Amino acid sequence: MDPSAEYNSSPHLLARHDFPQLLQVLTHGGYRILGPTISEGTVQWKEIRTVNDLPVGWTDQQDPGKYRLEPKKSPRVFNVVHGPDSLKPLTFAPRETLLTLDRKNNTFAAREIMPETPPTAILGVRACDLAGLATQDQIFLKGPFSDPYYRQRRENLFLVAVNCTRAHATCFCASMETGPKAQEGYDLCLTEADDDFVIEAGTQAGLKVLEQLPSSLASNERLSQDDERIQACADSQTRSLPLASFPDILYDAHDHPRWDQVAARCLSCTNCTMVCPTCFCHGVQETPSLDFQHSEHTRVWDSCFTPDHGYIHGKNFRPTIKDRYRMWLTHKLAAWVDQFGTSGCVGCGRCITWCPVGIDLTEEVLALQDTPL
Ligand code: SF4
Ligand code: SF4
Repeated sequence: MDPSAEYNSSPHLLARHDFPQLLQVLTHGGYRILGPTISEGTVQWKEIRTVNDLPVGWTDQQDPGKYRLEPKKSPRVFNVVHGPDSLKPLTFAPRETLLTLDRKNNTFAAREIMPETPPTAILGVRACDLAGLATQDQIFLKGPFSDPYYRQRRENLFLVAVNCTRAHATCFCASMETGPKAQEGYDLCLTEADDDFVIEAGTQAGLKVLEQLPSSLASNERLSQDDERIQACADSQTRSLPLASFPDILYDAHDHPRWDQVAARCLSCTNCTMVCPTCFCHGVQETPSLDFQHSEHTRVWDSCFTPDHGYIHGKNFRPTIKDRYRMWLTHKLAAWVDQFGTSGCVGCGRCITWCPVGIDLTEEVLALQDTPL
C-alpha cells in the first residue's frame, strides 16, 4: 500500500512527557528530523535531535513589517507560529545545480545532478504551509511537465502538522479556507495543549508511527475543546481577502489609481516573493569554466519584482515598480486561478510581516475593491 495514501485514524492523546518518543520513533524509522529552531532572531527549519532544540519558552509576535520573538513561560514546543521560511526552500531549493556540461569531441556531454534527499520528517508544519505545498505540487508535479528535482525532495517528506490555536495580526488563512486547522496533506497532525497533544494520522506512514507511541484514544470532550480553540483562532483573525471575488476583482482594477499609491511605498526588494510559500519564479544561470570546457547549469529563485525579470530582447516590459506590484498581485490572486484553478495566496501573512515597509495585500485588495475609479 502507498504509505502516503490518505488515511484518517481516530485521534489519540499523547502525554507531554511522552512527546520525546515521537522523535525517537521517527529517528529509528530512518528519518532525519527538521523542526523550528531559533536562529538569527526568528525560527528556521533545522535538524533537531531533542525536544530542547525546539523553541520551548518562546513565542512570536507579528505585525506589518515587524517580527519579534519573546520569552513566554509555557511548556509548549509549538508556541512560535512560523518564521520567514515556509516549506518551499525544502522542496524547491533557492539555488541548485541541475546539470553540468563537459565539452567532448566537438560536442557536449550533459550530466544530471540529482539532489541527495534522505527521508526527512518535518515537525511543526502549519495548515498554511500544507496549503502552500499543495499549490507548489500543482505547479511542479501536476502540470504537463513534472520537475524531477522537486519530486525527489517531495517524495521523501514525512509531515507532522500542528493545528494553530493562536493567530497573528497578519494571518488570514480562515478567509482563504486553508486554516487554521490542517485539512489534508499531513502524515501526522498534532493539537497541542499544556499537558498533552491530540495526535492523528493522515497516512498509513503516519499510522505506523502513531502505533509505536504510548497513546490512548482522545475523548470527545477533549476533541470539542480543541475544535473550540481552533475556531477561536479563526475568529480572532482581523484580516481577510474576498476569495469569492477572485479573479475579476483584480482584472477589473487594472487601471486603478491605487497602484500608483502602493508603488510609491514599495521598494521592489523582493522580500514578499522570497517568503511566499507559493511563488515559484526562477531563473537559470550558465557558469562556464575559464577554459570553456565545463559549465554548470544552475536554477536560482527569481522574483517578478526584479528589473531583470521583465527584460527580454532589449526591452523591459515591466519597467516601473507599479508594473511589478500590479503583476505580482494580479498573478497571485487572479491569473493563478485561471492557470491552476486555485488562488496563489494561502493567507499565511508572511509577505505582510516581512515587507520592510509593511505593505499589506489585504489592505491593497480592499482599496482596489472599495474605491470607485
Ligand atoms: S501572498 Fe502573502 S499571505 Fe499569501 S501566501 Fe504568499 S506570503 Fe502568504
Ligand atoms: S511589497 Fe514590500 S516586500 Fe514586496 S517588493 Fe515591495 S517593499 Fe518589498
